[in-house]
Amino acid sequence: MKDYKINNLGFPRIGADRELKKALELFWSGSITEIELKSKSALLREQHWVIQQEAGVDLIPSNDFSYYDQVLDMICLLGCVPERFKEAGPVGLDTYFEMARGQHCCGSDLSEGTRALEMTKWFDSNYHYLVPELNETTEFSIRSTKIFDEYQEALDLGIKTKPVLIGPVTFLFLSKSFDGSDRFSLLEKLLPVYGEILQRLEQKGAEWIQLDEPIFSMDLDENTKRLLKKSYEYLSTQVSQTKLLVANYFGDLDSNLEEFVSLPVDGLHVDLVRGVKDVSTFFKSVDDTKLISLGVVNGRNIWKNNYTDTLEIIDQFKHLKNQLCLSPSCSLLHSPYSLRPEDDLDEELKSWLAFSEEKLQELQDLKLILSGKGNALLIANRELHESKKQNERLFNKQVRIASEESRGEEFLTRSPFKERIIQQNKSLKLPLLPTTTIGSFPQDKELRRQRALFKKGIINHEQYDSFIAGQIAKDVALQEKIGLDVLVHGEAERNDMVEYFGEKLEGFAFSKKAWVQSYGSRCVKPPILFGDVSRKVAMTVQWTQYAASLTTKPMKGMLTGPVTILQWSFVREDLSREEVTRQIALAIREETIDLEHAGIPIIQIDEPAIREGLPLRDQQKALYLKWAVDAFRLSAAGVQSSTQIHTHMCYSDFNEIMDSVGRMDADVISIEASRSDMELLEVFKEQCYPNEIGPGVYDIHSPRVPSVEEISLKIKSILDYVAIEQVWINPDCGLKTRGLVEVEAALQNMQLATESVRAGL
Ligand code: GLN
Ligand code: ZN
Repeated sequence: MKDYKINNLGFPRIGADRELKKALELFWSGSITEIELKSKSALLREQHWVIQQEAGVDLIPSNDFSYYDQVLDMICLLGCVPERFKEAGPVGLDTYFEMARGQHCCGSDLSEGTRALEMTKWFDSNYHYLVPELNETTEFSIRSTKIFDEYQEALDLGIKTKPVLIGPVTFLFLSKSFDGSDRFSLLEKLLPVYGEILQRLEQKGAEWIQLDEPIFSMDLDENTKRLLKKSYEYLSTQVSQTKLLVANYFGDLDSNLEEFVSLPVDGLHVDLVRGVKDVSTFFKSVDDTKLISLGVVNGRNIWKNNYTDTLEIIDQFKHLKNQLCLSPSCSLLHSPYSLRPEDDLDEELKSWLAFSEEKLQELQDLKLILSGKGNALLIANRELHESKKQNERLFNKQVRIASEESRGEEFLTRSPFKERIIQQNKSLKLPLLPTTTIGSFPQDKELRRQRALFKKGIINHEQYDSFIAGQIAKDVALQEKIGLDVLVHGEAERNDMVEYFGEKLEGFAFSKKAWVQSYGSRCVKPPILFGDVSRKVAMTVQWTQYAASLTTKPMKGMLTGPVTILQWSFVREDLSREEVTRQIALAIREETIDLEHAGIPIIQIDEPAIREGLPLRDQQKALYLKWAVDAFRLSAAGVQSSTQIHTHMCYSDFNEIMDSVGRMDADVISIEASRSDMELLEVFKEQCYPNEIGPGVYDIHSPRVPSVEEISLKIKSILDYVAIEQVWINPDCGLKTRGLVEVEAALQNMQLATESVRAGL
């Protein structure tokens, strides 16, 4: 009988009750000391190690904890702190957080010295990491002892851990060169520092070290493959007793299989949830001294593992002489903590779910089944999956028929843009450079308090609604006072742009504590999309109509697009993502049409998450973009040509998706642009993008109020790229997290700047 071990790649660090988030925020506001923050964090680490130990994990990770982000930790470990953070020697916590968050000195200009590092998405997930800033002269040296300290800390608790760090090639891949030099040329300088880190861990007695190289899931050119080979040839000579495990996750090895399998290391981790295609070829070429960690339990989703299917996958490895480990597909950082507090979820739905703690249990179950002692577990799991397949809650016949019948309707377009816009201009009568906002207005403490009271049942529907109505009236009055051209209702009734719609749609459920870290102390609690999606009731019509009744200016309706609802939810796996998105699109379309019938002349369908869903492999990108854009089009299909459709995307890298943006064919697209000096508009210019564009003229991520002159300059620089008839003026994104005072001042300046540019024409 083969003996399996259990390997874990990483555990959620934020805590069951988001203890780390709370401690960080108290520390930042000065309410607790650094010592208190550190001791609370140590307690969390201890709890997490003990949970894993008790769950029978053989290879327990350390250094997977982070005060903010694991890439930032690597920047400190490797000592490549950008020069503007003037600190030599060990990186202290103040500098660490300054790199993460910048210096927040309200109102005043953010000086160069305190600008935070850029943040961007971690592969195709909704986790954000801080981007290392490199240039030709960057030097590396160990400037943080965190990885060694945490190894020791666990050892002192009697737990021998496997330190985890990001591998050198993935680290360089995630970095950005700030002087245009080739960042991979730094590998020569980087490897000796990695070597030193490994040696120090070996001196401490580490048996295993995990190096994450998820770039193996991407298309790699020959040079990158060579660098990977070279790195591990070198690193494997740096330790003698300690063993190196290289981990790939988030995708298939595909054309990188040979290189991965032949790395001169002692262990390899493969993602068998997303990378099942590899299995048959993988084990043919692997040498039998290597430990193989089989990533069979999905670390990116919340559904219970299907043991029967998983055992079939494991079966293909069984005859190997290699030591095999059972493992989650990737770090559990991307899964919520535990199902235990979810007493509001119905038992049936709950029985379909597994969060991090339960995933560790699943690995134990699988191990027991493989040892021949867990037959009852296998049978129970099989029965659960069989009965789930037939469960009526997952199917809605009408939805299935509607979805089938809607094929092709995304092309039922209105007239071509050139004709539509003439009709729209006629009825909307907007000035040149129309001003508007992205949707949400500030949500203050009182609003959050009222919402909490309502959720707890302390105030009733009427009381809550009347509060919301009051808030909407205030937001509309503010926009009128400023003189904006196209108004919004302000989204006061929405806690979150996806949750709000999920709550009104059939097919969604909501957890109490299924938080997942998004960045730093920020967590998201994605809705659980478990069944066929349909619209129960109109979702936004009442509030939009009410807001429209308060003004003579055009009111813009505000919907979240189907791809964004998909991307920001935990999605069922028994139906293709394409099909799920189509169902959501049909539900949104009903709302779009109802808004039109209610007399709303402009409807914005936000799609900030389209780009984040882009697959890692080039080959799969086109297919994804096709159905994603189709879904967007479907959600807007069916309104008259005279109704103006807007969309909003909050990122600034359009290069890879420009064709798709064109195919979305929204009448107006607003984008984040203020931080890029408008050069991102180059691609819109190059492609002669024909529709209208609202490049954000100021950054809403900072409380700073931009001056009239500054915004005027921004507007003028837009006009270098886009014809004035095509341009809208708006901020970068929604204003929900900002304070009212700064929002009023900033929007007023935006309006004045627009008027001054108009006057100068
Ligand atoms: N309409 C949303 C808002 O203003 C858009 C948010 C987003 O793009 N993330 O809040
Ligand atoms: Zn946005």
